[in-house]
Amino acid sequence: MYGLGILKGLGVTLKHFVNTYVEDIRLGSGKFLGTAFEHRQGVDSRGLYTVEYPDEKIAVPERFRFVPFLVVEDDDHPDRPGHDWCTSCGICAKVCPPQCIWIVRGTDAATGRPKPEPEAFYIDIDICMNCGFCAEFCPFDAIKMDHDYELATYDRTTTNIHDKEKLSKPFSYWKTIAPTTAYEEMVARGGWEHTDIIKERKKADAAAAKAAGAAAPKVGDSQTTVPPVAADAAAKDRADAVQAVAPVAEAIAAADAPEAAAAPVVDEEAAKAERLRKREAAMARKHAKKDGE
Ligand code: SF4
Ligand code: SF4
Repeated sequence: MYGLGILKGLGVTLKHFVNTYVEDIRLGSGKFLGTAFEHRQGVDSRGLYTVEYPDEKIAVPERFRFVPFLVVEDDDHPDRPGHDWCTSCGICAKVCPPQCIWIVRGTDAATGRPKPEPEAFYIDIDICMNCGFCAEFCPFDAIKMDHDYELATYDRTTTNIHDKEKLSKPFSYWKTIAPTTAYEEMVARGGWEHTDIIKERKKADAAAAKAAGAAAPKVGDSQTTVPPVAADAAAKDRADAVQAVAPVAEAIAAADAPEAAAAPVVDEEAAKAERLRKREAAMARKHAKKDGE
């Protein structure tokens, strides 16, 4: 019928128009928060919305990538607060397609020899094309792609070359913007940067050292062996600390377990023998055929 298509189209528009208000009423005042906000901006959302940027912002997915940043230890890290993960190996600068990374390797003041940390690190974000190669190739997980896309400025000549200070962000920030990837990487590395494990180990070592100190013979003491009570206390402290880190270590081991379980068990010797047997059988058939001709 003439005009039916127009009526159908208007019906679809009207449905979306009404659904906009249905969805708004359903989500209530929480529509700009957390999962409700993500749902509203996602593909399952009903209705039509205009994102009122900058008051409203679309939630970016975890794999979203903008300009790179450098990972450093958190300020409360027990061993090396604020320490760079970057070793200034230069791989990222080499693989960067538009060559927009500059690195100056640090030098040990005492020996004059190079040390594995960058003295200066620059990325020209006007040239960076957000490809993520630097993050992919970094062997130390030290450079990551950021989610911060609000980099507009009035004077790009002075602000768009990011220096080391501007590029450096703590590991906790990376965990916030990419929790799944950060956890996977942490498991793959064996969790060496895990602050809880380091803290517990330090606590255990301190307790053991204290117990050993208490047990050490004083000058003039005739006793030369550690009293069994103090040795027991040290051992108990260490066992307690090991128990405290056990859940974290188990979580890491559990994450590794499916991979290990899935890995096929290959019996190299049996496979080799089978190949040899097949080859000999084929040769025997070939000779038999030749003799028969
Ligand atoms: S590849 Fe990683 S460790 Fe090497 S210089 Fe680049 S950021 Fe630093
Ligand atoms: S994201 Fe790509 S273009 Fe940008 S610095 Fe890294 S490698 Fe270079």
